[in-house]
Formats: sequence, C-alpha cells, structure tokens
Amino acid sequence: MTTPAVPALRIDRLVVRAAESSAAAAAHGPRDLPNLARFLMDALAPDAERAHKLLDRLTLEVAPHERVVLLGEEGCGKTTLARACARLVPVDAGTLEVAGVAVTARRRGDRLQVRRTLAVVFDDPEHGFDPRRTIGDALREACRALALAGRSEDREARLASAMASASLPATAAAVRAGELPAGLRARAALARALLGTPAVIVIDEPSARLDPLERASLLEALGRLTGAEGAVGRGPAVLALTQRPDVARALAQRVGVLYLGALVELGGVDVLDAPRHPYTRALLEAAPRRSRPASARAIAGELPSVAERPAGCPFHPRCPDAIARCATERPLLIGEGRVVACHVVNAPPPS
Ligand code: SF4
Repeated sequence: MTTPAVPALRIDRLVVRAAESSAAAAAHGPRDLPNLARFLMDALAPDAERAHKLLDRLTLEVAPHERVVLLGEEGCGKTTLARACARLVPVDAGTLEVAGVAVTARRRGDRLQVRRTLAVVFDDPEHGFDPRRTIGDALREACRALALAGRSEDREARLASAMASASLPATAAAVRAGELPAGLRARAALARALLGTPAVIVIDEPSARLDPLERASLLEALGRLTGAEGAVGRGPAVLALTQRPDVARALAQRVGVLYLGALVELGGVDVLDAPRHPYTRALLEAAPRRSRPASARAIAGELPSVAERPAGCPFHPRCPDAIARCATERPLLIGEGRVVACHVVNAPPPS
C-alpha cells in the first residue's frame, strides 16, 4: 500500500479578514484559539463581522509538481492569498500548510523550513530588487537570509542553478536590477524563488506588465520547472494567481475560479473551454479578444466590496441565471473532478 503524497500546498477553510475588521475579530477572543473554536466563532459571528472576509473558507490542495492557476477579477482575493502565504497578513481561521508544515508555525525551525519551501513572487515592477544593486548580489543576500550554502562556491553553484532553471542568462548576475528589462527582472524574481528548496511557488499575476514575448518566455520557464529534472530537484509545484485566461491556458494543469474570496469552480483545463459556473462563463466572455469590441466584454454589474458581501450566492446580484433561492442560500461546491458552486448548475435534471 502506498502512502498518499503530502500536498505541496494545503489550504483548508482559510479565512482572512480585511484589516478594519481584524480589530473587531480580536475583540471576539484571542488569535491563538484552536482552529475549531475559531471556526465556530466565525460561523456564529454576526453578519457585519462575517461580511469583511477577503478569503472566505477557501479550500484547495496543490499536489507536488502540479501547476494550478486561480482565475478571478481584481479584488477577488488573489493578492490576499499570496500575502497570506508570505505571512504578510494574519490568517484568521483555517489551515495553510506547505509540505505538511503550517505557514503560521511559530517554532524557529519550522519557520525557516516554510521560508525555504514556500516562495511567493508578487506582481511588482521592481520585484523587490534594489535598482542600484546587481542581481547576483541580491541573490547572494537572499541565500544568506535563508541560511543556505555557507561556502561561497556552494552559494555560487546554487545561484547558477536557480538562474538556469529560471531561464535567466548568467550574464544578468552582473547587471544592476534597475538596468534589466522587465522580462529579465521577472525571471530574476523567479530565480530568487528557486534558491531554497521550494515545494511550491505562489506567483501573483505572473506576466503583468510584460510584453507578449516576455510573457511567453516567463510562462515557458514556469512551465518547464514542474517535473523538470534540474539542479534544484524535480521542480516545485506552481500556484499562479491571475485575471488572464490566456495565462491559465498556457500554464495550468488545473484551473480554479475565485469570486469574493471563495472558489466557485475547480477542474481541469476544460474549465476554460466548457465553463459551467455563470461567473466563469462571464469572466471568460469578458477576456480581451481582438474580434470583439470592449463594450461587449464587461461582466454585468460591479464586484461588490467585501464589506457588502451579498447574502446567499455572492454572485447573485450580477448573475443572469439567478433564481429566488440564490438570494438566500449559499451554494456548496459540488461535483466529482469538476466542482461547481451553483444551485442551477447542480440542480438534478427534471424527471
Ligand atoms: S447559485 Fe444562483 S446566483 Fe449563484 S451562480 Fe448559480 S444561478 Fe447564479
């Protein structure tokens, strides 16, 4: 009997609240309550308290070496998820684990392991590099911060390996970050993410601000990582967060769709070709295509603020298929292989 592999990333009923409600959440009780107690408090909290969730019981597993893309409009929770992975925002409830270790672990050894095994790359034109320093120096400093490769020859070998895996030419090491084109800087950020022993790389809007050639080249480098035999090992899993269906198409083995901090659909790449949830359909329909005027592309209505999360199905004020039940009852994710949270899609066929 084989033991099932530990997921590279496990997200289970993850709740992250907007900062303004975190104080109110703290007033309800201490942060270090066991998850079950916090989950119950969350479920019993008044509506106003529940309303401010940026991530709302988000659940997802990413297998070792797998590429998953989460799609959603701006404001749907993608960057909050990346920030929670990087421990830049507190987790209010639920589980977030990398290779079996809680991202919120407090033990020093666990924290170091999380930093080495979970790399987060943000959508940032500078990618966190000091424009006056060379890429090589920035990567060496990142090695030291991760307490990796104390001997200089080991460190240089690690740098070379990470740069090669990110398809970054060796000559880029001597160039100041501010002088590198955006595409190479993005690959330098990927090289920095590969310095440790990442089980998973979480990447927020991987190709934002890149021209089509740079975008294709970065996505190709990301695609090659998983499953590739290289000096960094067999390759990390990738969780990419984007609003661009073409990025999902280029990269994903599985696709999830986020709306107001929760998954509404999850499945293989066929999600992109045959979407079932009304929001997924609208999102794909709204994606830029040369053959269609911009006016024909918008999703009806505005994305509501998390402070005014609609009751029932959060998509119901914008949904062309809504029925009375949608305004009062939240749909569950249901299905095998392809899961969808929609009362209409999941209704039994008429007998
Ligand atoms: S549950 Fe209702 S409102 Fe929500 S997506 Fe389905 S049909 Fe639309």
